[in-house]
Amino acid sequence: MTTNENGSFTGKVAFVTGAGSGIGRAAALAFAREGAKVVVADLSEQNSQETVRLIEALGGRALAVRCDVTRAEDVKAALDRTIETFGRLDVAFNNAGSEQPVTATADLTEEEWDRIVRVNLGGVFLCMKYEIPLMLAQGGGAIVNTSSGAGVKGFKGQAAYAAAKHGVVGLTKSAALDYAPQNIRINAVCPGIIDTPMMDRFSGGTAEGRERVISQEPIGRMGRPEEIANAVVWLCSDAAPFVIGHAMVIDGGQTVS
Ligand code: NAD
Repeated sequence: MTTNENGSFTGKVAFVTGAGSGIGRAAALAFAREGAKVVVADLSEQNSQETVRLIEALGGRALAVRCDVTRAEDVKAALDRTIETFGRLDVAFNNAGSEQPVTATADLTEEEWDRIVRVNLGGVFLCMKYEIPLMLAQGGGAIVNTSSGAGVKGFKGQAAYAAAKHGVVGLTKSAALDYAPQNIRINAVCPGIIDTPMMDRFSGGTAEGRERVISQEPIGRMGRPEEIANAVVWLCSDAAPFVIGHAMVIDGGQTVS
């Protein structure tokens, strides 16, 4: 295969966090299939390199950057390398996140609370803080942040995670209002139960554990990472110019009732 020269993202540059695994990897590949050059940012250098290899196997171009989204200096350095390597930033998918082991609210340690909120909410803020000036300088862009079903309803044993993911929705909507006049569209996705390494850790990865989480899904199965990636690509595309500050639930019906 060769690089997609007629894709809807040809000539554009996408920055994806948490792109070494799961939903982020699927989105990085989806952007590359549409012709974007992709910066694969993740804590795991090795997993990022593997995503780059998969993109190159499609004939695409990508750069792996080790980045901890809770550290401003890492985020700034990753975006500096994006500009040095590919010259611009059109699209950002702020997706890196970490699960909370099931714990009742008062049993959460302060350290656990801080860790979950810093990664899932603080990381999205830091990424936007340094992405937005780059987009303003070039006249616009599109950003999607990863929230969750836990960003629109409560889940037993998930206080810190749900607080952070609800926070991502509020952050997204407010930032969207700040920058809509300057041609930066900011939206969020709220995935249901998606079959990724994170969900394997959360469910225990056993047949029984998987069945337990699938029982929350009216559709009767887990979602595939590609089913989230497709929505992210659409939200960032020229097909969605009037979509601003939307938290798009993609969850097989999990949060409908
Ligand atoms: P995953 O664990 O498969 O991938 C997450 C990636 O984020 C990993 O590669 C990890 O190294 C990276 N990461 C974690 N902390 C980081 C940090 N501080 N800096 C940079 N990278 C970091 O998980 P996933 O299921 O693909 O989840 C992706 C996002 O989707 C997360 O924000 C998660 O909360 C959210 N989400 C997942 C599900 C699901 O069912 N899988 C449901 C709703 C929301």
